[in-house]
Amino acid sequence: MDESGENTKGALRGETIAYFSMEIGMKEEIPTYAGGLGTLAGDTLRSSADLRLPVVAVTLASRKGNFRQELDAEGRQIEHPAEWNPSELMELLPEKTKVRIGKKEVGVAAWQYVLESPTGGSVPVLFLDTDLEENSREDREITDVLYGGDERYRLKQEMVLGIGGMRILEALGFEIRKYHMNEGHSSLLALELLKGCEGDPKKVRKRCVFTTHTPVEAGHDKFSYDLVSELIEDGDKIEMLKRFGGGQRLNMTLFALNLSNYVNGVAKKHRDVSRAMFPGYVIHSVTNGVHSYTWTCPPFRELYDRYLPGWANEPELLVRVDVIPDDLMVVAHAKAKKDLIDLVNRSTGTEMDPQVLTLGFARRSTEYKRPTLLFSDLDRLRRINSRGKIQIVMAGKAHPKDFQGKRLIEEIFCRARDLKGEIEVAYLENYDMALAAKMVSGVDVWVNTPLRPREASGTSGMKAAHNGVINFSVLDGWWIEGWIEGVTGWSIGPEPGEELPPQEARRRDIDDLYSKLEYIIVPTFYHRKDHWVRMMNDSIGMLAYYFNSHRMMRRYVTEAYL
Ligand SMILES: *Cc1c(COP(=O)(O)O)cnc(C)c1O
Repeated sequence: MDESGENTKGALRGETIAYFSMEIGMKEEIPTYAGGLGTLAGDTLRSSADLRLPVVAVTLASRKGNFRQELDAEGRQIEHPAEWNPSELMELLPEKTKVRIGKKEVGVAAWQYVLESPTGGSVPVLFLDTDLEENSREDREITDVLYGGDERYRLKQEMVLGIGGMRILEALGFEIRKYHMNEGHSSLLALELLKGCEGDPKKVRKRCVFTTHTPVEAGHDKFSYDLVSELIEDGDKIEMLKRFGGGQRLNMTLFALNLSNYVNGVAKKHRDVSRAMFPGYVIHSVTNGVHSYTWTCPPFRELYDRYLPGWANEPELLVRVDVIPDDLMVVAHAKAKKDLIDLVNRSTGTEMDPQVLTLGFARRSTEYKRPTLLFSDLDRLRRINSRGKIQIVMAGKAHPKDFQGKRLIEEIFCRARDLKGEIEVAYLENYDMALAAKMVSGVDVWVNTPLRPREASGTSGMKAAHNGVINFSVLDGWWIEGWIEGVTGWSIGPEPGEELPPQEARRRDIDDLYSKLEYIIVPTFYHRKDHWVRMMNDSIGMLAYYFNSHRMMRRYVTEAYL
């Protein structure tokens, strides 16, 4: 399948970009996403539709979704299946395909959700489903649980996504120009491509784009060849997998790396970290962005519509945010803040006050995100609170098997109890896109304290910036590119390039966190309102205008797709 025309289907004449992602955050009613990777995929597609790009997306139906999180009085996480019914939201396509898994041919169908933009653009999103009568009971469950089950279950899911996805696109008659793998979960699509290219990796590479999101070696999906050979019985294919995916274990990232001509990390720092992890590969960077309209709260949408018409499809216009009168911006933020505080007080029984400086922290609860760092020294926190009151709104789910992540939530509940009557701390249940939208617009400061270099990009801070909420974060991922101290926000801990031993870096992080809160952030909020509003403006005009998925998609088009 290359330009020389061996390809009878004329696939290269096709214009369509096929975007593969294990999870996609379309909206909260379709709970087939777990966190940043999925919301990024959703924003990618929303911008593609707005920009009228010829994109089709492939993902899994994940009928039991991620899960709905309930927290008991101790902060213990209770997981409920987030079952959803595709037939209520999308259309079942008549075309089906099969994937051979072990000794069985597994039937794969696709639900189509058409994402429509007010610009007239649209993107079909295919949710692959094995819950078909013709399949065995076990196989019907393959597309049930996002990131569920064991290694075998995961490999089956990845076979359905990569191989099944390719075949469905073919059955539907799509002519694909490039296959974009959002993380390595879908990289078996390259195995399927190899088959059609007489095993010529050069031809496959021309067709593949790979975005890696994982800055640590242990985070990459790997499968034992015993398992792989059991599920993919074909000896030639196993050869190919070993040749491109590693001899010891099948490393999905390596397989994608070896079969893609364009590979990128999701921020400049992450590019550098990825290059060090995979020496010898050419790795670019396209820094993530968020979908401006989706992540801007209604009061700010109204302001932007009035003063910067066209902003939603041309977020660069936000660079002129200064044309919006400051007092109107303050009122818009107060509305969003009141909405959030009402929700917090209603759902958790706290008594938060909309006049008080409010810190927000929400993301998947997992060790490297360090959600408890803020509570390292409660006496310091109390002292800060005596200079100017603070309150803290938090949220986040832990993966059902991440026991450490669950323990962190319980620890926050303990700290909240310790601080009761002094500093109000609320932990909201079931962090999803709707709650994220409320939190990133309703707090005053958005805090992020990941362990470097684990935050490949991070996107919630970009959402905050769209709403004039000020970032206060560890210098990792996107924030290294967005941060101007005291202008677009504040940093926590060592500057990029400053290499400190882990213990010392942690001490610096904690010290900065508290010192800046006490001596800069609290006084600015309460006594230098004009400077605060200046920083809200600069968050919008210098961060949101750039860290949006419209800019990101234009970069993918000119650097990876064309
Ligand atoms: C944006 C978003 C994320 C990603 O947040 P990070 O701070 O980048 O980890 C995760 N979950 C949901 C629901 C989101 O909306």
